[in-house]
Amino acid sequence: MKRRDFLKTALGGALGAGFAATTGFNPLAFADPVAKPRWYKGNIHCHSQWSDGQDLPEAVVDGYKKNGYDFLSLTDHNILHKEDLRFTGFGMNYTPSDLKQFDGETSFWKKIQPSYAWPNLIQDHVAKARELFGEDSVTLKETADGTYCRMKTEKELREQFAEEGKFLLIPGFEMTANLVHVNLINVDKDFFMEDPSITNLVAKLFDYAKDFYGDPESEPYLFTVNHPLWQYYNIQPSDLFQRPGIRYLEIGNNDTSWAYIPEAWTPEQLWDIVNAYRAKNDQPTLYGDGTDDSHGVFRQDYKAYHSWTGVYADALETEEIIKAMKRGRSYVSTALEFAEISFDGKTLGVKINPKVEGEYKIEFVGTKKDYDETFKVVETGGDAANTPKRTVECWSKEIGKVLETADGTEASYTLKSDDLYVRAKAYRVGAGMSYHGTASNKPTLLSADAAWTQPYRPGEKF
Ligand SMILES: [Zn+2]
Ligand SMILES: [Zn+2]
Repeated sequence: MKRRDFLKTALGGALGAGFAATTGFNPLAFADPVAKPRWYKGNIHCHSQWSDGQDLPEAVVDGYKKNGYDFLSLTDHNILHKEDLRFTGFGMNYTPSDLKQFDGETSFWKKIQPSYAWPNLIQDHVAKARELFGEDSVTLKETADGTYCRMKTEKELREQFAEEGKFLLIPGFEMTANLVHVNLINVDKDFFMEDPSITNLVAKLFDYAKDFYGDPESEPYLFTVNHPLWQYYNIQPSDLFQRPGIRYLEIGNNDTSWAYIPEAWTPEQLWDIVNAYRAKNDQPTLYGDGTDDSHGVFRQDYKAYHSWTGVYADALETEEIIKAMKRGRSYVSTALEFAEISFDGKTLGVKINPKVEGEYKIEFVGTKKDYDETFKVVETGGDAANTPKRTVECWSKEIGKVLETADGTEASYTLKSDDLYVRAKAYRVGAGMSYHGTASNKPTLLSADAAWTQPYRPGEKF
């Protein structure tokens, strides 16, 4: 039993009370504030050299830890950071001609390439890790085929960086099918599933995960749907109606804004379309998560440490973080922090903690019970490799409307009898976009200095 579990038991039972009464010993003196919830900042989507990220894994983890993150899930494509010896991975095969030299070795080994092209490891990446942690920190092996570099495993990364109550590493990977990507967070086995069609692909992936790990409603893992616009409307609202067990949609991602057609949806509107439908049909809320999907600071067009998920949890422990996320005690951020979020079943109150001086606004967004439930289908794409032919569902713009706007850093909204739900979006006026593409016709959640609460329905409690 862990100390805090013991304290919970002791404090909650007759033993604790009796002991205190007869000895004068006060068990509360030992009850450090572990059970008191607080906000934690985390990223549950980023990449390292285990797949196509450009830093060695220890440099990635170090970067998040130094930048004030409390927890991190390093989610490489189709791989967990295990001990098993391997030379192949996402889009790569480095199998050496003479395997004998790797007898007794563990982990993933990647061959150093002379110059960068996706998803290569080059000398610069190795040099950066050496600069951070010393010459001997990186394990290299010279072979007849070239120099191989060993990737640190999840266990080794945890030993190096995890600190109780200060920094938590949660295992995970990005299940990368050709057309749809989902994250599996807090799992100890990986799987791969592919399907040539996007039709119902999210649902198929969810069903596969459910078979493989058990129902996420009862098992302590997260299934998140990533970058819904990628590559070109690869996910439709009805996909998420069909599987109410899908509880997280990545609405903040450095790579979200791949495509846009004005009559269709932005990721934020998709979120509302699904939540309006789910609220009306008594299905669970779809929550949002924010990540930077960082592939490394070597790629300057990616902005790491920018979008994250805030989680209000009892402790910095994996199960507590997952549990809090599953009950909607979380928010999405692109560089703006909520100091407080409260919802008592009727009134949503928020307070932000601005780090940059400026004018702030808070919008309350929701959908009315009598919203127009019809949608039309638009056939689009097919004119370029990155805009394949698609059938996109276009829903009423009444869904996800701004119900009220307040100036300043603190505001509240009380649900009206015809509201299905309400959520808040806070932002700094004129902060502009930070998305690396910056094409003006592309919508993005990554306007700088903004934060989004989850949607809350009548009667729910934060
Ligand atoms: Zn992805
Ligand atoms: Zn990714």
